Amino acid sequence: MQIKTPSIRWAFIISLIPISSLSIAQQPLFGFDTEGSEEQRRLEAEFDTHIDRAEMDRWLREFSSEAHHVGSTKGKQNAQAIAALFRSWNYDVEIAEYEVLFPEPRTRELELVSPNRFTASLIEDAVAGDASTSNIDELLPPYNAFSIGGEVEGELVFVNYGTPADYEMLERYGISVAGKIAISKYGGSWRGIKPKLAAEKGAIGTLIYSDPADDGYGPGDVYPEGPYKNDSGVQRGSVMDMPTYPGDVLTPGVGATGDVGRLNREDAPTITQIPVLPISYRDALPLLEAMGGDVVPEQWRGGLPITYHLGPGPARVRLKLEFDWNMVTAYNVIARMEGSQFPDQWVIRGNHHDGWNHGAADPVSGLVAMLSEAKALSRLAQAGNAPARTVIYAAWDAEEPGLIGSTEWAEHHGAELQEHAVAYLNTDGNGRGFVNVGGSHVLERFFNQVMADVQDPQTGVSVQERRRANLRINAGSEKIRNEAKNRSDLRISPLGSGSDYTPFLQHLGIASANMGFGGHSGGGSYHTMYDTYEHYSKWIDPGMVYGETLAQFAGRATLRLANAPRLPIDFQGFSDNVAAYIDEIETLAEDMRQQTETDNQNIKDGVYGIILDPTKSFGPPLAKAEVPYFNFAPLKNALTELESAAASYQDIASSGAPATARDNYLLYTSERELIRQQGLNGRPWYKHHIYAPGFYTGYGVKTIPGVREAIEQRQYDQVAGQIELAAEVLHNLATRVEELSGP
Ligand SMILES: [Zn+2]
Repeated sequence: MQIKTPSIRWAFIISLIPISSLSIAQQPLFGFDTEGSEEQRRLEAEFDTHIDRAEMDRWLREFSSEAHHVGSTKGKQNAQAIAALFRSWNYDVEIAEYEVLFPEPRTRELELVSPNRFTASLIEDAVAGDASTSNIDELLPPYNAFSIGGEVEGELVFVNYGTPADYEMLERYGISVAGKIAISKYGGSWRGIKPKLAAEKGAIGTLIYSDPADDGYGPGDVYPEGPYKNDSGVQRGSVMDMPTYPGDVLTPGVGATGDVGRLNREDAPTITQIPVLPISYRDALPLLEAMGGDVVPEQWRGGLPITYHLGPGPARVRLKLEFDWNMVTAYNVIARMEGSQFPDQWVIRGNHHDGWNHGAADPVSGLVAMLSEAKALSRLAQAGNAPARTVIYAAWDAEEPGLIGSTEWAEHHGAELQEHAVAYLNTDGNGRGFVNVGGSHVLERFFNQVMADVQDPQTGVSVQERRRANLRINAGSEKIRNEAKNRSDLRISPLGSGSDYTPFLQHLGIASANMGFGGHSGGGSYHTMYDTYEHYSKWIDPGMVYGETLAQFAGRATLRLANAPRLPIDFQGFSDNVAAYIDEIETLAEDMRQQTETDNQNIKDGVYGIILDPTKSFGPPLAKAEVPYFNFAPLKNALTELESAAASYQDIASSGAPATARDNYLLYTSERELIRQQGLNGRPWYKHHIYAPGFYTGYGVKTIPGVREAIEQRQYDQVAGQIELAAEVLHNLATRVEELSGP
């Protein structure tokens, strides 16, 4: 039959019909047979009727009515209130307590001592129309937790974002931070990297400020006229060296129960070497204005009405910090619903409950969606549809100072978690806009089906289609734009760090994911005193519309993992992503090799001497050792082995063969094959050999981290050994997958 070409207008309308929700809704669910899929979808429709936006909004208002960091009165009250809710829904509830080190600031002083004098206020102003900003009894003032105390005085050096690349640039200006105080912008890397790198370069102190070009009046109107950062807002946050290990600084690797052995604080390697303090752009302005020296490179300029200079000096500051190093109790709420068929297989679902402040967005917006989900799940159980596997809900304490509550619990229960945990599903603060899923790539296919089955409340298409459209238009590279068009599954991001999934994924080897919505709500309130109910309900997610969507999304993920007769774990998506990472690393090595060759040749030819401006002190790049060729064959051979095992298993899984108990055990413990007990080079706590937070990026992920970081850090003699180790974990996984296809 000849189909008449539709008019352009008609074609446009057709293109808006969500293709996936028409076709995939009829497909069986991954891990279920046709009949089971229908029953599961019926359950999910019933689940949705129990999600209540108004109730979420009430909880949001209640839990964020006061500051509730670990160790605060309100924090403990919230834990008890959350436990009471879970009990009222028939969960078995325990409050798991850990005794952990938590510094609170006693003295914070910052003054400019020359060429003129200025004393920084270091306070955030209450604003009209937001009563919460006047209700600050227990609010901790702006500080960076796990900065060391001390008093230092020195000249300022402007280091941009304080990343390794920024320090290379400073070297070309002949500027060192040795003996000086580095002043850095927030952004570009995780905040804890800034004092770590500054200390490695010899600095005696660090200041971090939020430049208005990044999340102040540059991108939009400031609070209370808009969501962005006003001139007194300061981002609090931890600066403990989480890429070495997260959790209680005194008890690495073990749960911080009352009687466990502890390090002396002086020996804790994750406390900073130098004092560090975050400040507002109002307090930063007079310091930056008093600086001299070269004008900063163009890309380093911020949004303040001054010419930015690199220093050193003549601006000279005195910084004094003192802390009370308290032992406080972290209260994790652990709520368990016993599985009706497989009680020894645990699906774990968590969101933290502590905030740096009132914490409406971070973390309560995610917490209340999880509570709504847990209530809906209990309603299904009451009606005779208890989950087949055990579901454990966790509301973590002390996430903000360094993933402390979740890490201590995961370390404390490590052995049983490695035996029983099917997966760990995390949420944190939520906003409106596009779905974001990061996680283990054995779950990529599973999450695509969840994305296709949840409707975006603003557009009516599936959240998968909305994300796909966004990537097709806005993704940073052509490769990603094309993939969004042509690859059937959207890629989920690999996980670095930044929330409570880290101990489960990277320490214990439990397949994990992190889920949320965002992209259409301004980000200036993060960790300031302005993260309040008033700010959230006006600017981030009015009416908890995306709170409901998150509950539907995370609820489906939890329920499907709990009920699927065959666990929906897929090794083809995993190996496809690993192949892409190996490509990336080869390209990285090649780009570094060419860049180094070009730079060295230009230095040798004296090219820089001809072009550089003699009135400026900017110099040529430093000559570097040539980048050798690496043999990636062991890694590629292991990948090939995995690809063929994954294809054989796929045949079995899609044949509809029922899964045995052994099959499911082999499936859910397969992620453990990707960890090695010895851990990564120089940081044994991190055991996963495919995903880790970057040693010099912090939250930012490094995939196949042993190999990638050895190349990036130019430790070329380590690369071959790291390739062998990464090949070994892939080979071990391939052997496991072959076992699944075997007799
Ligand atoms: Zn959070």
